[in-house]
Amino acid sequence: MLNPEPYNQLLMQRAFVAGEWCAADSGDTDAVVNPANGDVIGHVPRMGADETTRAIQAAVLAQRAWAACTPAERHTVLKRWHALIVENADALARLMTLEQGKLLSQSRTEVVYGASYIEWFAEEARRAAGDILPHAQGDKRILVMRQPIGVTAAITPWNFPIATVTRKCAPALAAGCAQVLKPAPETPFCALALAKLGEEAGLPAGVFSVVTGDAEAIGGAMMASEDVRLVSFTGSTPVGKLLIEQSAQTVKKLELELGGHAPFIVFDDADLDLAADQLMACKFRNMGQVCIAANKIFVHEDVATSFLDKLKDRIGALTTGPGDEDAFDQGPLINGAAVNKVDRHVRDAAKKGAQVLTGGKAHALGGNFYEPTLLTGITPDMLVTQEETFGPVAPVMTFSSEKALIEQVNDTQVGLASYFFSQDIARVWRVAEALDYGMVGVNSGVLSAAEAPFGGVKQSGLGREGGARGLDAFLEDKYVCLGGLSGDVT
Ligand code: ADP
Repeated sequence: MLNPEPYNQLLMQRAFVAGEWCAADSGDTDAVVNPANGDVIGHVPRMGADETTRAIQAAVLAQRAWAACTPAERHTVLKRWHALIVENADALARLMTLEQGKLLSQSRTEVVYGASYIEWFAEEARRAAGDILPHAQGDKRILVMRQPIGVTAAITPWNFPIATVTRKCAPALAAGCAQVLKPAPETPFCALALAKLGEEAGLPAGVFSVVTGDAEAIGGAMMASEDVRLVSFTGSTPVGKLLIEQSAQTVKKLELELGGHAPFIVFDDADLDLAADQLMACKFRNMGQVCIAANKIFVHEDVATSFLDKLKDRIGALTTGPGDEDAFDQGPLINGAAVNKVDRHVRDAAKKGAQVLTGGKAHALGGNFYEPTLLTGITPDMLVTQEETFGPVAPVMTFSSEKALIEQVNDTQVGLASYFFSQDIARVWRVAEALDYGMVGVNSGVLSAAEAPFGGVKQSGLGREGGARGLDAFLEDKYVCLGGLSGDVT
C-alpha cells in the first residue's frame, strides 16, 4: 500500500531504475514545488544519460521474459496494478494536487481515469490476435503474428501527471514491451508513486523504470539508443519536432501528442445552457492547462448576447483558491511563467481592442493564481487566436456563416480537438465530417476515454492513444509464409 501520507513518498529522493530505488550517480537532486504556495515539497534525483542507459539495458533483458509471459499473465499483473491505483486513489490525488495544483476533486477523477487505461489495455492484450489468410498459391498460407515492438520510452508533461503516463505505459506493457519513462520535472512524484504500485502489483524488475532529471540528457540517451524501438511523447510542438529529428539516426517509431488550439463553436440552434455548462468544463478544467481545452470560442451572432450572459454569470461565480481545500472552483497555474504567458495574452488582446467582461488580471491571492477571464471583441491579430493560452481565459468571437467559419477553423497547422453545439442532426453530421481535427466533441466539451482514440492531425501529432487500435503501435506484424501444404487428406 502507498502510505496514505504522501509526504513520506516525497522524502525518498529516489527514482526507479532497473527495479531499484536509487539516487542520481552524482547525488544531485531537483526540487519539486507546490504551485499553490511555492513551498518545496520534496526532491527527486537529477539523473542523466548514464542512469537512462542502465534503465534501457535492464529493460532489454526484462522485456524478453515479459514478452514470453502469456497475455493472460500480463493481464493479471496489470489488473492488480489497476486495482492498487484505485485503492490508493485518495493518496495519489493528494500527491497530484500537491505537485500539480489542480483541484482535489479533479485529481481524484484523473487518478481513476488514468487507471482506466491500465484496465482497458490489460483486457486488450488478450485480444491482440493475428491473422491466417489464404495465399494465391494453394500450397501456402499467410500467417500474421503480432509481436511486441520491444523496449519503448515515454516522455510526459505536467498537466496530467497520471493519465499521460498510463496512456503510454499501459499499452506498452500490455503488448509485452518494456518502458523507460521520463516524467515532467514539475510532477515526478505521481509517476514514481505509480511505479511503486506497479512494483507491488508484480511488474518484474526492469519492465518499467522512471528516470527523473535532466530532460535533454535523458531524452538524448533514449533517442540515441539502438535498443529503444519506439518513443511516445506528449508535450510541446518544438520538443516533438526535435524528437522527430533525433529519431532519424536509429529509425525509431514515434507516437506524438503535441499542441492543439481547439475551436469551440456554438451554432444558433444549440442548447445554450448545455453549451455554456460544457464550455466551463472544457475551458476551466485544470485552469485551462489542457491541450484539448477550448481556445477560440465562436458564437453565432444571433445567440451571442444570450450566450455571453450565461457565460459571464458562470465565470463570474467561480471561486479561486488552493486546490487541496476542495472549497474552490479554480486552483493555481503551474508556475510564474504560465501566469506571465496568460497575462501577456490578456494584455495583448485588451491593447488591440478586446473587452474584458470578467477577470483580466492576476488574482488578489498573488502567486500563481489568475482570475478566470472572459474576453469579447476578439480579432485574428491577437495572441489568444494564434497560440495556446494554456490558462483560464475564454476569448469569444461571433460568426454568421457556417461555411466561412469551417474554412477559418480548418485554416491552421494544428488539429487536435474541436467542439461544436447544434441540435440539427444534418448539421451535426456535416460539420463533424468537415472539421480537420483528430477529435470532435458534439454537444460535449469533455472527450477523453480509454475506449476512444486520442490524438491529432497535421502538426498536432502522430498516432492515437487508447481505443480499440491503441495497442497497434506497440506491436509489429510478422508475416510468416507457411509453404509445402499440398497434398490430399490421407
Ligand atoms: P511544456 O512546455 O508543457 O513543459 P515540454 O515539451 O517542454 O512542454 O515538456 C514536455 C516533456 O518534455 C517534459 O517531460 C520535459 O521535461 C520534456 N523535455 C523538454 N525538453 C526536452 C528535450 N530536449 N528532450 C527530451 N525531453 C524534453
